[in-house]
Amino acid sequence: MNETTVFQNDLINTTAGVPNIAKKGSLLLRLIRAAQPITRTEIAQRLEIDKSTVTENVKPLIGAGILREETLEVSGQGRKPRVLSFVDDNDYFIGVNLGVRTSQVGMTTLKGEISESDDFTTPADPAAALEMARRRIDELIEDNPGKICRVIGVSVPGLSDVARRRLIYAPNLDWRDVDVAAALRPNENVRVVVENDATAAAMYEARLKIRESSDGLMTNFVLVRSGTGIGVGLVIGSEVYRGSGMGRGIAGEFGHMTIVAGGKSCVCGNRGCWERYASAASAATLYLGDRPLRPTESLPRFVEIVSKAENGEIRAQRTLEKIGDFLGIGIANVIMGVGIPRVIISGRLVYGWRFIEKPVREAIERSIIGKTEGWSVEAGEPQGAAIGGALEVAVEEYLTHGLNI
Ligand SMILES: [Zn+2]
Repeated sequence: MNETTVFQNDLINTTAGVPNIAKKGSLLLRLIRAAQPITRTEIAQRLEIDKSTVTENVKPLIGAGILREETLEVSGQGRKPRVLSFVDDNDYFIGVNLGVRTSQVGMTTLKGEISESDDFTTPADPAAALEMARRRIDELIEDNPGKICRVIGVSVPGLSDVARRRLIYAPNLDWRDVDVAAALRPNENVRVVVENDATAAAMYEARLKIRESSDGLMTNFVLVRSGTGIGVGLVIGSEVYRGSGMGRGIAGEFGHMTIVAGGKSCVCGNRGCWERYASAASAATLYLGDRPLRPTESLPRFVEIVSKAENGEIRAQRTLEKIGDFLGIGIANVIMGVGIPRVIISGRLVYGWRFIEKPVREAIERSIIGKTEGWSVEAGEPQGAAIGGALEVAVEEYLTHGLNI
């Protein structure tokens, strides 16, 4: 019996008013993973289902050695709660974040701890970059004998295809149609899933939101990932939205919306794209006054600008404020376009949030969104934009399609 059968048999008839659970049995697994260790009572409350239904559904998972239930040791008297968590003895997942400047390879288990993250400078040639990532994958597999690598998740700074195997186009790397899955797959038992980096970061943040939340799972937010470029991930009802039909994978490509008519030229061929004004990378050229580099000069790194701002340098502070202004203008447009007023900022830009937050808010307040109530903008965890998102892609794939019960 597979996972879908388990959930359809048991949950579909008992979840009136919670339509997503019937459709997606993996919601229960995602809750356990995000909030583990967790009691059956809490699961029942948060999914708005009977405790007996929870029991029926976790039983085969415990039997299959995927979940374990144990008594939680708490100090003090009273009944010790029985809690569920994932077994992480044998399975692990590898993540590869292919960044425009640097890439990371790391691993995790269903328990959620990230280990062995290794960075390298991304070569300009896709074959060379994938070979470097592949070498690290092979090393991780060699270092974990007797354990099983289930899925490799890859986050890329561009569009992936509908099957999530190929990178279609990464403008900031100028890579086109790269078969990432074929290059990284270590053997035929391991699935490789390729995902846009903003969507991957959104999946990572969605898990954190499920963990922090004490009620249901219906999280909705827009994630704006600002690093070398800008990508947007959409989470609706705790699920990422990638678009539909032929547009699958395209949803969230806001980095190239025009924000300044006739503005700075962009790698995509257009002028005045949002990411030329509000990405972490755009801070470097803005800081230098948008003039060409002198031969001996190199662009300042974003973290260097932040550190100058922290040391009181006015030029660095103004640079970050200007970035914040453009970021806020774009965010107001995004909110108007998708109708989701909660925004999480991710990527390198988060390191300068102290200086960026105020102008972001002011720009949103000037827009029509500012006249409404209920909008919010907050900084996410830097990890999600790097290796965290790639690992999230791997684990989600396994929980959604890979379980063998
Ligand atoms: Zn562009």
